[in-house]
Amino acid sequence: MTIANLQLQEQLDAAALPRLKHYIGGQFVEPASGTYFPDLNPATGQTIAEIPDGNAEDVNRAVSAAWRAAPEWGQTSPQERAAWLNKLADGIERRFDALAELESRDTGKPITLSRTVDIPRAIANFRFFAGAVLHTAGEFHQMPGAFNYTVRRPVGVAALISPWNLPLYLLTWKIAPCLAAGTCAIAKPSELTPLTANALAEIAAEVGLPPGVLNLLHGIGPQVGQPLVEHPQVPAISFTGGTATGRTIAAAAAPRFAKTSLELGGKNPNLIFADCDLEAMLETTMRSSFANQGEICLCGSRLLIERPIYFPVVEMLVERAKAWRVGDPMDPATQMGALISEAHRAKVEGYIALAQEEGGRVLAGGGRPTGLADHLAGGYFLEPTIIGGLAMDCRTQQEEIFGPVITVTPFDTEEEAVALANNVRYGLSATVWTRELAQAHRVAAQLEAGTVWVNTWLLRDLRVPFGGVKESGLGREGGAHSLDFFSEVTSVCVKV
Ligand code: NDP
Repeated sequence: MTIANLQLQEQLDAAALPRLKHYIGGQFVEPASGTYFPDLNPATGQTIAEIPDGNAEDVNRAVSAAWRAAPEWGQTSPQERAAWLNKLADGIERRFDALAELESRDTGKPITLSRTVDIPRAIANFRFFAGAVLHTAGEFHQMPGAFNYTVRRPVGVAALISPWNLPLYLLTWKIAPCLAAGTCAIAKPSELTPLTANALAEIAAEVGLPPGVLNLLHGIGPQVGQPLVEHPQVPAISFTGGTATGRTIAAAAAPRFAKTSLELGGKNPNLIFADCDLEAMLETTMRSSFANQGEICLCGSRLLIERPIYFPVVEMLVERAKAWRVGDPMDPATQMGALISEAHRAKVEGYIALAQEEGGRVLAGGGRPTGLADHLAGGYFLEPTIIGGLAMDCRTQQEEIFGPVITVTPFDTEEEAVALANNVRYGLSATVWTRELAQAHRVAAQLEAGTVWVNTWLLRDLRVPFGGVKESGLGREGGAHSLDFFSEVTSVCVKV
């Protein structure tokens, strides 16, 4: 650990345990239950904050506050809303270092990742939609004797529910377009990672965002998320999380036909053809496998490798996995931090055991790292793990593990690779590695996935539609798709 890190650790240890509050109608308020539960640092297992145990009563307060603010917010001009979004982005920029630290302490992810991905992307989300909302256009269609045009109005109030893996990144990806479209937000971050969302509420208060435009509820999914998605006065729900929770939310929304945008799990394939740029592929594949401890819905967890290069590629990946630096999230040299919770690590370890029962062989990792600093003894660390020798229909190859675990499988033909890639109930993303242009386009068009990357991974243009097919989700986010979701369109037909 560097001297700077030691100082930081001391400062953090000395700080009083923060007790979060809900942010409702522009006020930080106690939960109706009056009770709190601990927020743990996954790298140490220590409590770092106390979180309000939200319930249906808090939901009712937030829904009322949001609807009180909705008429006025919906009447603001795109220019005014863009200015507010930029103020929120400025606020995040001002607190950049503190937010990066908070994110890493709350999630266990390497500080380098928080600094280069999570917090910059939160800023970019606000700046992007601040620009996008100024460039929207309606439709106009002429017909003999009449013309048609469209008008958009905000949906009013939306529930925004996000997971723990990319906390501020994913929550702002919903808040920014919601506010830009003139709709008021009730955001619910994961109970496991509420700290940066709380900081965002502080920024909203600091910059003077009108009360009720952004509300923040804390608590456990079934106790606060469920009443929120069931609430009759919540007409739109934007959810990112697991497929099982997505199903529950879809069922809760269906009776009243609430709009839903569901970004769910994945079991993404990487199709690696023999002619690919090996070095570029290896470098990116290590990231797409183990970045954020493998806890990114877009991580490629099934590597399909063309047989002529199968053994050398596996060997090189194993070598790199063994050298991957797992350790203190606060150390800038760390490549992989701690998994989000003890329960999640146990789940991932369960899959490693299952893989072996299913006939798989652990080629790298498989256990907990040794030799970590004493203060990390209570952390939820795991080695980057590579497993070979599994049939594609076994559970390890079919179910989302959401940890630093990948499988390697050889293929002989392009058709076989596509069939193996599509042989899962998920369809979020896929990556194709080849130098042959025609093959890349041919394969990309056949893959059942919302996003296909060719010779890259996680490269995102925020205008591009993003979402999943099959059990990876419903609807698309990104650019106009997000702005459309948080508004309703009316077609006007005028006879002339
Ligand atoms: P969960 O589905 O468990 O939780 C997601 C959010 O939903 C949390 O805020 C959770 O609250 C809340 N929640 C849980 N139950 C309910 C309920 N009944 N009603 C309303 N809200 C509820 O997912 P994880 O947090 O475990 O995140 C991991 C999953 O997210 C993975 O499957 C991953 O693939 C997916 N994901 C998908 C992405 C995509 O873009 N498609 C991106 C990132 C992740 P709480 O945590 O407090 O229980």
